[in-house]
Amino acid sequence: MNIDQARALERAHLLNLYSPIRMPMVMARGEGARLWDTEGREYLDFVSGGRAVTGLGHCHPKVVAAIREQAGRLLHVSNDFYTEPQLRLAERLSRMLGGRCFLCNSGAEANEAAIKLARKHAFKQTGPEKFEIVTALKSFHGRTLAALAATGQPKYHRGFQPLPAGFVHVPYNDVEALRGAVGSRTCAIMLEPILGESGVYPATPEYLAAARELCDVHGALLVLDEIQTGLGRTGKMFAYQHYDVQPDVVTLAKALGGGVPIGAMVAREPAGSAFEPGDHASTFGGSALPAAAALAALEVIEEEDLAGKAALIGERLAQGLEAIRAKSGLVAEVRARGLMIAVDLAEPRAAWVKEECAARGLLVNTVGDAMLRLLPPMVLTAEEADRGLKLLGEVLAAARR
Ligand SMILES: *Cc1c(COP(=O)(O)O)cnc(C)c1O
Repeated sequence: MNIDQARALERAHLLNLYSPIRMPMVMARGEGARLWDTEGREYLDFVSGGRAVTGLGHCHPKVVAAIREQAGRLLHVSNDFYTEPQLRLAERLSRMLGGRCFLCNSGAEANEAAIKLARKHAFKQTGPEKFEIVTALKSFHGRTLAALAATGQPKYHRGFQPLPAGFVHVPYNDVEALRGAVGSRTCAIMLEPILGESGVYPATPEYLAAARELCDVHGALLVLDEIQTGLGRTGKMFAYQHYDVQPDVVTLAKALGGGVPIGAMVAREPAGSAFEPGDHASTFGGSALPAAAALAALEVIEEEDLAGKAALIGERLAQGLEAIRAKSGLVAEVRARGLMIAVDLAEPRAAWVKEECAARGLLVNTVGDAMLRLLPPMVLTAEEADRGLKLLGEVLAAARR
């Protein structure tokens, strides 16, 4: 299938949601940090499939083998039954995070579960008046209605009101605003440890510490959305481990399945005891196939120390980007936490840079019209990092002319 055929089929049969962001290529195959389109062109994937999902690279052999094995044995039974992959996955996540799991199919669903859990926890501890959830402006928590209400970006709300009530948004990293917003009605503070979609802005240590303290004072849960930051990308297994703060609830998705859709909410005690049978459920949640994929992905992340690799290769990229910044008048700032990297441009040339990079075989993301975002896979080699830097440096130099 070529790009014209793809566009015609999209126009005729898909809701018009993605056409402005779609790149002009039909992807056919992936391996590690590389993708190939149907024209046979090769790309260096610095976006992990576009949205930070393929942190293990494309088609990691151990994940593919686990999927093949599981697919030949049992694809699905619902939660009316036990399956070993689901229980082994939950066991592993519990060991990593010290809580118990609800398994689902996406990031938004993991956050929905966390929102319901926080409400139920407060309901049981205090009563129905303790329902507010404080989240940050510029946050991103997903597109389903409650996750959307949690998302502190009015542009995503427009046209979809009324949204579920009880969400309060405060400026990120503003301790005083947080103190002002949290009170006896607060059942949770929900935060990304590093703002992802908005462009790699890490929480300050004081901010997360204040969030933890406010939760303790007011009997609220600290929910950390690690859907993008979790599982090694920032150079630690979980981004909160860069801080001296412990969450009550962590949500995961994106890289969790090694490329297969799966999400998880992990709740520590006492939050883990808030739900009772029947309070929440998912037909597909923790199904055998995605669970087997996620179990294999977690084994790879731990055994190959991908968090450590993300820290090292992220540092290499950050240094390379700093060197580009020093020479190029176009790069204003580089923000990097492991392999979550944003490059602020001094001029609104991000769309051009992204297209030109793709034309030269490098895939990058944009945030707004003056920011690039890089989310390379944790398996990126030093040679691939240097090749990407060289291509990006050339494009930025050309953009300046
Ligand atoms: C991507 C993302 C989500 C939403 O995940 P989906 O799987 O698209 O529903 C939520 N929170 C954060 C921080 C994300 O990066």
